[in-house]
Amino acid sequence: NGETVPLLEVRHITKLFGVFAACNEIDLKIRPGEIHALLGENGAGKSTLVKMLFGVLAPTSGQILWQGKPVQIGSPGEARRTGIGMVFQHFSLFEALTVAENIALSLDKSISLARIAEEARALSIAYGLPLDPSAHVADLSVGERQRIEIVRALLQNPKLIILDEPTSVLTPQEADKLFETLEKLKAEGRSVLYISHRLEEVQRICDRATVLRHGKVTGACDPRQETPASLARMMVGSDVASV
Ligand code: ADP
Ligand code: MG
Repeated sequence: NGETVPLLEVRHITKLFGVFAACNEIDLKIRPGEIHALLGENGAGKSTLVKMLFGVLAPTSGQILWQGKPVQIGSPGEARRTGIGMVFQHFSLFEALTVAENIALSLDKSISLARIAEEARALSIAYGLPLDPSAHVADLSVGERQRIEIVRALLQNPKLIILDEPTSVLTPQEADKLFETLEKLKAEGRSVLYISHRLEEVQRICDRATVLRHGKVTGACDPRQETPASLARMMVGSDVASV
């Protein structure tokens, strides 16, 4: 409901690359326990926006609020400590290392590898994304590699998990499994920011959608209350309204 303090709020955030505004005065509110879509065509500014939320890129201007309070997220480490986890579009995994070793690289050094492997295995089972912690990344499919990134994010117990175009590398069966995982995260009261340009996915799993076009918000809605044509219009403009 509208009274709840958003878990994350973005006010007028802008990212300039030279004179080009990849994100232009974007506003966004993510409520606790919702699956929120960030919908837009290639080049709309989706990845740039979430890189600012995860401390990978510094905003040119604008404000980020976490549970109603202004925050500076200067690095991925700060984002994780704030309670934000991220699954990137392009994974950063070391092929020659095992699943557990890859996860260990992003965690507190005081935790033993055996302990990390045990926790990763338990979490992967609990969330329906089974992983063998002793497997070498080089031997894993792209869907399995994505599971590593998801489990790595979940190990830090995030309140918000951001996934950037996760289904672009998945089979339809793997995508269905992922959607079940997202529903479980939601049932636990966590929020999900789900980036996609696929209308049918967004209408299937998302409670809210913020639509971007050319770096600007063109709509914020309940995607299930919209028609595919009305969502497409927000994404690409009025010229496709009849598609
Ligand atoms: P999306 O994720 O919605 O496909 P991006 O956020 O990746 O879009 O990109 C938005 C726009 O910003 C695109 O036109 C892209 O070419 C441009 N862009 C992204 N990153 C950079 C960068 N580091 N330098 C210059 N332009 C960039
Ligand atoms: Mg992108």
